[in-house]
Amino acid sequence: MAAGKEASASASLRSLARRALDGRGVGLCFPPPLEIRYRQDEAPDRARHQRVIVRAALLLYAAIGLAINLTVVAHPAWPLIILQLVGVPALVVLLVHRFFRADTPDAAREAALFVCCLAAVLCALLPVYARPTPVTTEDLVLAALPLNFVLMFIRLRFRAAAALLILSLSAYVLMVFLRPDIAGTAKAFPIVFMLIICLPPLVGIHALERASRRLYLHGLLQRLDYERIAAENATLANLTLTDALTGVANRRRLDQALQSFCAATEPHGALLLLDIDGFKAFNDRHGHLAGDACLRDVARRLAGAVDRHDLLARFGGEEFAVLLPEATLAEAVAVAERLRLAVAPQGMTATGPAAGVTVSIGVAEARGPITSARFVEQADSALYVAKRSGRNCVRSAEFEQAA
Ligand code: GH3
Ligand code: MG
Ligand code: MG
Repeated sequence: MAAGKEASASASLRSLARRALDGRGVGLCFPPPLEIRYRQDEAPDRARHQRVIVRAALLLYAAIGLAINLTVVAHPAWPLIILQLVGVPALVVLLVHRFFRADTPDAAREAALFVCCLAAVLCALLPVYARPTPVTTEDLVLAALPLNFVLMFIRLRFRAAAALLILSLSAYVLMVFLRPDIAGTAKAFPIVFMLIICLPPLVGIHALERASRRLYLHGLLQRLDYERIAAENATLANLTLTDALTGVANRRRLDQALQSFCAATEPHGALLLLDIDGFKAFNDRHGHLAGDACLRDVARRLAGAVDRHDLLARFGGEEFAVLLPEATLAEAVAVAERLRLAVAPQGMTATGPAAGVTVSIGVAEARGPITSARFVEQADSALYVAKRSGRNCVRSAEFEQAA
């Protein structure tokens, strides 16, 4: 059931990915389930990349800011510059530590990244806006550079980058218009300059994000195909080891288990061979379809009575086998008795397709080196004794030797 759901979810993801790859639009958002998967898959790598790149950018930002104010700027407003070059890094370090992790929700991580970028850009405008001395064109040009720096350096998503450009440009325009010392004709140049240096990186961010999303889709399709083939292979492998009629393990699976059991230097455990009593007569009386239903019912009852680590298999025809690793002969006889009663409960009116059916069981114990053929042979001999003893009973190889 769960596997079916998973298969249909991955099929719908595959078709969404194919459609997104075929689409020629310039949109950067996948349909919801695909977008969620994209962000989930991208999260570890993106968080790691953000941590590294933001720290590196921060060092550069502080170093370049300090160098410019020490060399190029005529009258630096030091209190505001210190706020810019110490306050912004402090905020960024705090946000990186708190939010830049793969387990942080994507929206929170991206919002934190956006706040870092916006703080870096706006704090660079502050010393120019609040300068008591007249502002030169040089100052305005330098104040526009951090936005370009952020857009080039930080891998913001396109929407965040566009929002950053709009907000920063608005603040920049406001600053240019609010400064009384910038002449009306001189106002246009810094604004156009900012646009010229920031629009190309924004276009680049769009192209890069589109390319990386398409690359992701190719990888995702390959991964989904691989997962589907692996799931089909697992189903096929399981089918080759399952009995088609009863759903329990088949002879091949039993042989494999017996081989590996007997390959141990000191194998220790027991084998039960179960045979339905008078099954030919059952078929003759009720027909083969009823016989099949009876086999299924017997298998279901046996499966309900064996432990998880024991292997129940259809040995062939109306015979079943149970391999009990680690079990002693006494424990195996007790299990066999439990299985016999599971098929034919004592003193109860049995119902279902196997009503009235009984089984005979032979038990063999392995204590030390033994071949799988010998092990089966011993259980088979014990089963023969059980049949001779009147059926619907359990006999062990030990009993056979004693008899
Ligand atoms: P006993 O008590 O000695 O075991 O007698 P029996 O009749 O059970 O044994 P016998 O070996 O004579 O008959 C086994 C029967 O099981 C014959 C065969 O038709 C039937 N059988 C084997 N496989 C299947 C199957 O897949 N479906 C059905 N319906 N019958 C099967
Ligand atoms: Mg038989
Ligand atoms: Mg039989």
